[in-house]
Amino acid sequence: MIETNFFKEIINDIFLTDSPSGFCKNINNVLINKLNEMGYMNYRITNKGSIELFIEGNSSEKTIGISAHDDTLGLMVRSICANGNLRVTAVGGPSIPTLDGEYCKIITRDNRVYTGTILSDSPAVHVYKDANTKERNIDSIVVRIDEVVNCKEDVVALGIQNGDYVCYDPKTIITDSGFLKSRFIDDKASVCIILSVLEYMKKNNIKPSYNMYCYFTNHEEVGHGAASIRKLDEFLAVDMGCVGLDLAGNEYSVSICAKDSSGPYNYELTTDLINLAKNNNLKYTVDIFPYYGSDASAALKAGVDCKAALIGTGVCASHGMERTHIDGILNTMKLLYLYLTR
Ligand SMILES: [Zn+2]
Repeated sequence: MIETNFFKEIINDIFLTDSPSGFCKNINNVLINKLNEMGYMNYRITNKGSIELFIEGNSSEKTIGISAHDDTLGLMVRSICANGNLRVTAVGGPSIPTLDGEYCKIITRDNRVYTGTILSDSPAVHVYKDANTKERNIDSIVVRIDEVVNCKEDVVALGIQNGDYVCYDPKTIITDSGFLKSRFIDDKASVCIILSVLEYMKKNNIKPSYNMYCYFTNHEEVGHGAASIRKLDEFLAVDMGCVGLDLAGNEYSVSICAKDSSGPYNYELTTDLINLAKNNNLKYTVDIFPYYGSDASAALKAGVDCKAALIGTGVCASHGMERTHIDGILNTMKLLYLYLTR
């Protein structure tokens, strides 16, 4: 039966490679190397930078697709302050207050990498009366660069300019109690879940039931990740499940999303997924995600005529300090495997 050993083996390679939306070359190289090692060679990189992998199934009666996004939230340099700090703009929708105090890297367009720390405009408790109360928003945080810089010119001399990516620390660990903690479980856990299922199928000579395309997209956090996928009959996005408020989702189960901000997912396919989970005794929940869109909704909005659905492990504190549990990951792996081989 499918296990999480391979998942645990690959998380460092996937999670520790910086990949804010649009900065995809490095993560694509890591993923291509993995696919080659696993014996999956029939892939291409699209113009936009997504990986499209084809796997022949037992039947060509229909063509199905799955996806996970390998892009993450991040920041970008917006301007250089007179004192040598950097003002930033958000890439995607990070929880800004949680960024206060985080270590980061500034990556220049000629591949120089500098380290720094994200701080508020009132960072010193001994100096600023509002150090504790100042609102942390995108206009009130800066990056303090770990170089001797006293003015804008000093920063420019380092090769840093507006439009450079700022990547903050993913802080990835698995605890002895089975929790995966990282900034970007959304959606790198799903990338590793898909790779783990594909590894299991390859090792055991199991083909998917139908011809399938697997996508690793890198513009999901900015809304159009899977907008350019090919014509498919079915498309299953594997992405994080929501946890909180009155939602049923939790870190130990696979969440099946019936509806999110983009509207309901395909009724029949969602029902099939619920029945697959129920009949195989998986821990699963069905939920409405309040403020959410996925690669499946991006595909629908772009005009792809497919049955679209969404599943994923429940993630606590999404877009902040995220956490899920290895049980939720395993239940998601199992449902994905059951879907591919049904
Ligand atoms: Zn996501």
